[in-house]
Amino acid sequence: MGQEIQKALDEAWLKGRSVLIEGKVADYIPELAKADSSNLGCCIMKTDGTMYKIGDYNIPFTMQSIAKTFALILALQTAGYDKVFSKVGMEPTGDRFDSILQLELKDWRPFNPMINAGAIVTTDCIDAEQPFDAFLNLVRKLCGDQSIFLNEAVYQSEKRTGTRNRSIAYLLKSDHVLDKEPEEVLDVYFRMCSVMATAKQLAHFAMILSNKGIDPKTEERLLDADIVRIVIALMMLCGMYDESGEYAVKVGLPSKSGVGGGIVAVGPDGTGIGTFGPMLNKKGNSVGGEKMLQYLSDRLKLHIFA
Ligand code: GLN
Repeated sequence: MGQEIQKALDEAWLKGRSVLIEGKVADYIPELAKADSSNLGCCIMKTDGTMYKIGDYNIPFTMQSIAKTFALILALQTAGYDKVFSKVGMEPTGDRFDSILQLELKDWRPFNPMINAGAIVTTDCIDAEQPFDAFLNLVRKLCGDQSIFLNEAVYQSEKRTGTRNRSIAYLLKSDHVLDKEPEEVLDVYFRMCSVMATAKQLAHFAMILSNKGIDPKTEERLLDADIVRIVIALMMLCGMYDESGEYAVKVGLPSKSGVGGGIVAVGPDGTGIGTFGPMLNKKGNSVGGEKMLQYLSDRLKLHIFA
């Protein structure tokens, strides 16, 4: 079985490599334009402690929108379900991740926590003395690695140039959706997006989600089962932005991507997958990562609707 998985992973990586040329690295955050376009890696982790890896599975990159899953978890943990979902919805948008199109139509209540407007709201909801420290602790715990750190250069780069997110935050504030000051919320949001992770660390996070929030090594419950259910459901519906539907058909795994090139994918039965490849398609999703996940889903029969 183990050999089968490694073989599938090796093949998936070759498939992923063959499509890299179709992508482009994100450059709207200037620092991200420095990414190495040839990077591609994947890691699969299981609850029995086995791990399969290929390529650049251990190279750190900024989480970007993958941070939205942790922000949602932290908001739910500290502010609770009712407060969070009074301010943000649970529906996919079909629009770009940074769209403002539908905000006004819904009384400025963003459609879901996986788009920028929604994540700015969940960030505002985090009820902690030091929201970013609480976020970093959570990421370290769920990714199983205490060494996870903030990329200061990417944080400064986005803080300096993030006019669109700044506009979204001020619009939300003008309609009383944000409790805190926009700049305070944005500062936490930009920092969260700039936390570094590897495909291996993301695979650990996905493995914990797939295992319903329990760390199989220590048997400690790291997350409430209810929170896991909410996060996984929203990843499935909204995690790949306006490509979530097509991705659900082709890959069929609750996933979240980020413009840093990462994808975290929750497999069945305690299987966690992390991928990294900074070449992105037009929707902002990793072309190599998606290709590898589609291949793995098919070969290893992971698709939840198949
Ligand atoms: N930090 C990025 C932004 O807010 C995250 C977007 C993404 O990964 N899609 O624009």
